[in-house]
Amino acid sequence: MITKIIQEEQIQRAKNYVEKGETFVIVTHVTPDGDAIGSSLGLYHFLNNYGKDAVSVVVPNDFPSFYKWMPGVKDIIIYDKYPDFAGQLISKADVIFCLDFNEPKRMEKLAPAVVASAGRKVMIDHHLNPADFCKVVISYPQISSTSEIVFRFICRMGLFDMINKDAATCIYTGMMTDTGSFTYNSNKPEIYTIISELIKKGIDKDLIYQQVNQVYSESRLRMMGYTLYERMKVYPDKHTALITLSREDLKRFQYVTGDTEGFVNLPLTIKGISFTVFIREDKDYIKISFRSTGNFPTNEFASAYFNGGGHKNASGGEFYGSLDDAVAAFEKGLNDFNPTNFKESNKQLIKE
Ligand code: 5GP
Ligand code: MN
Repeated sequence: MITKIIQEEQIQRAKNYVEKGETFVIVTHVTPDGDAIGSSLGLYHFLNNYGKDAVSVVVPNDFPSFYKWMPGVKDIIIYDKYPDFAGQLISKADVIFCLDFNEPKRMEKLAPAVVASAGRKVMIDHHLNPADFCKVVISYPQISSTSEIVFRFICRMGLFDMINKDAATCIYTGMMTDTGSFTYNSNKPEIYTIISELIKKGIDKDLIYQQVNQVYSESRLRMMGYTLYERMKVYPDKHTALITLSREDLKRFQYVTGDTEGFVNLPLTIKGISFTVFIREDKDYIKISFRSTGNFPTNEFASAYFNGGGHKNASGGEFYGSLDDAVAAFEKGLNDFNPTNFKESNKQLIKE
């Protein structure tokens, strides 16, 4: 048995939409990650299996190729490529599930169509501070992935039997990727009860790991070596490390979307480092990722200096300007930032 975390009222209201709705659209955040795609396709397979045949998954833009093996992935509609078609689906939907994000702006170009649609919206998410744009809000930041909440939601509707192997595979992928393959936010015993149920549904968890993590190009691995050797700066007294990559660096190593996945975590393997930052010069703006171990609230840092947000230990933001300016803004932030109650309680900071 797993604990009832989702409020009964939310379950009943969303279940009513599931039963009565005919056309469904599932949307998620920009640059979808494994949890965004996994939770969306998990719910998609469940709804199909439950007998709903007009279900679409719409994502704002493209996503890395190492998620493109997932069952059902070919049915995903990328808004960037088919804006009119996607817009029609959204405007005509009876029900819109908003997965793995807490406010419309996280959908970027997709946001106006979703907000304007008369479809009944159900948010399923695990980010703090859900915005008020959905009729039903199933938001639990203490749960480590949206995919896990989707599993719990289906079970609580009494429809566990409608989770087939394809749904289970996608749900597992989201749970795995949002916990760094169960290396952070993954101490809750019920995670493993759920995994056990997913394995009983027939998933091959070892194969899922390989399909996500062992499919990169040679140039990507060489870029990782270069990044660590040439592009990492350590601030020992701040327990912090920074890596940066310029547009030229990315070009040199034939960067494709997803190639820098996981880079931000690498400096956390250094003893005494508990806050890591990765600044990457993208085509239109500078993308910044933050990670920490222990209690350092990277999301507060992201929101204070880079108009971003996310989770305590994993967050991100954006910067408009040069790479040097972004680094300067980060270094200023590192000197000024003073989160309350964090030094005393952060065991990681005294691990050296
Ligand atoms: P990543 O570093 O993998 O791109 O993002 C890690 C987490 O930070 C995401 O799951 C998301 O919650 C959050 N995040 C990343 N970029 C942004 C951003 O620009 N704004 C906000 N609010 N959150 C972000
Ligand atoms: Mn997530």
